[in-house]
Amino acid sequence: MLGSGMFRATVLTLFPEMFPGPLGLSLAGTALAEGVWSLEARDIRDHGLGRHRAVDDAPAGGGVGMVLRADVLAAAIDAALAPDDPRPRLMMSPRGAPLTQARVRALAAGPGALIVCGRFEGVDERVIAARGLEEVSIGDYVLSGGEVAALVLIDACVRLLPGVMGKEASGAEESFENGLLEYPHYTRPRDFEGRPIPEALLSGDHARIARWRREEAEKITRERRADILSS
Ligand code: SAM
Repeated sequence: MLGSGMFRATVLTLFPEMFPGPLGLSLAGTALAEGVWSLEARDIRDHGLGRHRAVDDAPAGGGVGMVLRADVLAAAIDAALAPDDPRPRLMMSPRGAPLTQARVRALAAGPGALIVCGRFEGVDERVIAARGLEEVSIGDYVLSGGEVAALVLIDACVRLLPGVMGKEASGAEESFENGLLEYPHYTRPRDFEGRPIPEALLSGDHARIARWRREEAEKITRERRADILSS
């Protein structure tokens, strides 16, 4: 295992029932059950105010929707973290830095993360600064809450942990790992509805296969994502 121990994800959410959700299944679920990584979903509402455990209020300055209160969220963060907890404090947010495979790899090599899930119109700006939250986006679209985004981030990290995937886990040839999208895959049957497997892949010539894959990866990347091609 990398680093000093297990990858620990602590999620602050108004919907803890959403976790582990899909991460309780398949390879991530097996690894969770085996203790390769851990997940704690904590209910922000436990720190809500008054009889109704209020967590939100109207936006200062007016406007639609509600905003998660800074004091409530700060209390939830403080209760979740020991003072010396070394984990990065992330907040899922469409305003954040777009998540990349490089960032995922760095996170997976570390001790885990505290992940704050926003809801409503978002969270009071002051808690972001006061608790040093790093905003992370999973793409240029708006979700109804940070939970699905947190599941995406954790899934991407967990599959890289040693022992989670089989030997295909090396991931060195996967999309984004080398500035390229991945080459196309084929398996049986040899002919599918008149579409044969490319001849190079059946040649048994490993150098030729590697060359073909490299060329295809470059072609696909040029066509689809010229923006990620390393210069
Ligand atoms: N009013 C906010 C804005 O325009 O930027 C959107 C708030 S959204 C409805 C509620 C929450 O969903 C956000 O606080 C954030 O936690 C989460 N969220 C929405 N889109 C996201 C994205 N693309 N990446 C990460 N988190 C997202």
